[in-house]
Amino acid sequence: MFYQVSKEDEYLFQGKRKRLVEQLREKGIKNETVLKAIGKIPRHLFFDTSTARPALLDHAYSDKALQIGAGQTISHPYTVAFQTEKLEPVSGEKVLEIGTGCGYQTAVLIEMGLKVYSIERQKSLHDKTKLFLPYIGYKTAKLIYGDGYKGLPQFAPFDKIIVTAGAPYIPNDLLVQLKVGGVIVIPIGDGENQEMNILRKTSQSNFEKQVIGQFKFVPLLQNKSTI
Ligand code: SAH
Repeated sequence: MFYQVSKEDEYLFQGKRKRLVEQLREKGIKNETVLKAIGKIPRHLFFDTSTARPALLDHAYSDKALQIGAGQTISHPYTVAFQTEKLEPVSGEKVLEIGTGCGYQTAVLIEMGLKVYSIERQKSLHDKTKLFLPYIGYKTAKLIYGDGYKGLPQFAPFDKIIVTAGAPYIPNDLLVQLKVGGVIVIPIGDGENQEMNILRKTSQSNFEKQVIGQFKFVPLLQNKSTI
């Protein structure tokens, strides 16, 4: 199903990854652990290789959002880096990701030493990523087929929550499942663009909010989809 991760791939793509990391640095990403993770993960393996493989591979390390199957996209590397940096992740923390997609963001979080729980509402993507991530060595994430609006009450509370689809509002269940002191990073907006919202939970019912920048995400949809 997936083509071989080989040493040749590594040598071929290492240079491209280095350049991507430099670009991200120039765009303002400062967290060295985030940059190190992006510099290590073979992003070219995460695309929907059943369609337009050669064309996609050419763009794997440019700062673009690309198709991953089931009508969904892998986020721009800058968006992944930005959201991850804003999450202020610390190794060993428990993180909930909404929108597993192809698992690239999941891999970044694993690479940074986090315990990742990730929910995907599309069955086909969930099934594919559940096979793929362990195949390339990322075995520790708990991947769940479900509706991210509801979070994962059975595994709460979480130190951090990252939402990787554009939400019309901040789902209350996610705020409840965040630890006091924790951070949620979520793009808000139901049009073409979203604004990144960063909320720190300062007490059971209080949050400090920061809104930064315009981004483009696929929508956070309600309920599980069977496709
Ligand atoms: N983190 C992903 C980004 C994928 S795009 C990556 O690195 O590739 C966003 C994903 O969110 C899509 O796969 C989409 O199906 C999923 N999604 C949308 N609404 C959702 C919901 N309510 N619950 C869980 N996943 C959802």
